[in-house]
Amino acid sequence: MKGAASLSGAISSFASCLADLIFPLACASCAGHASKKDYPVCAECRGRINYIRSLEAFNDIACSDIRGFFSIGPYEGVLKDLTAAFKYHKKTALAGFFAGELASRFDSFFPLAPLSGFDVFIPVPLHENKLRERGFNQAELLACKLSELCGSGVCCDAVMRKKETRVQNKLHYKERFENLAGAFEINLKKLYEIRLKNVIIVDDIITTGATVKSMAQLLKRHGALNVFAISIARTDIRNGQKAKIFKNSFK
Ligand SMILES: [Zn+2]
Repeated sequence: MKGAASLSGAISSFASCLADLIFPLACASCAGHASKKDYPVCAECRGRINYIRSLEAFNDIACSDIRGFFSIGPYEGVLKDLTAAFKYHKKTALAGFFAGELASRFDSFFPLAPLSGFDVFIPVPLHENKLRERGFNQAELLACKLSELCGSGVCCDAVMRKKETRVQNKLHYKERFENLAGAFEINLKKLYEIRLKNVIIVDDIITTGATVKSMAQLLKRHGALNVFAISIARTDIRNGQKAKIFKNSFK
C-alpha cells in the first residue's frame, strides 16, 4: 500500500509539473515561472519581500481614532511591483496572496485582537468615476478575500466616497488632509454594520495615514467600537525607521 501511495504521489507530482509546462504560470512580479503552488508570486520573489517586523514602523502615524496599523511590508521592491500589478494591471489573483500574507502575520503582532476577532472589514471606497475607470476597487477585493479567510464580515458600502479627490501621492503632507476633508460619507442604511462593532479598514497603501484616519474619525463618530487599519504596503519606512525620502519630503 505504501508503494501504491508513493506511486500515486509521484504521478500526481508529474501531472502537476506537466500542467505547469503546458499552462505556464507567470509570476506577477518578475514574470518568470511560478509553480502552481506558489502562483501568483514565484518562490524567489516571495523570499525577497521585506516584511515589516516591528510596529514602530507606524509610530509616526499615531491616531486616537485608530487602535493599530498593520501592513505586509514597505512599499518598495517586490511588494511595490506586486501592488502596481494588482492595482494598475488588473492582476486580481493577487488579492488572495495579499490576504494570506496579512492574515498569517497579523495575529502575531496583535495576539489580543486577532484578525478573525473583528466584526467587519470595511475597504476604502473609490469614487464612482474612479471605479468606472479602473473597473474594480482593489481595497474591496482585498477586504472580500480577508473576510473569506478569517470568517469575519465585510461591508463594501458602509462608507461612500462622495467627493472626487486629487491623487494623494502627488500632494504634500498637509494637503493630503485638506484634500480629504468631507470626502467620505457614512451610508446611514448600513449603520448596523458600524455601531458597537470592531472594524478594520482595508487600504492598498498607507503613507501618512490621512485616508484611513479620515475614515476612522467618521466610523468612530457613528458608533464604531474599535478601529484598526491594514494595508498591503506602508510607504516611506524601512525596518521601523523613517527612510531618507520621508525626512526629505516632510521636514
Ligand atoms: Zn517572481
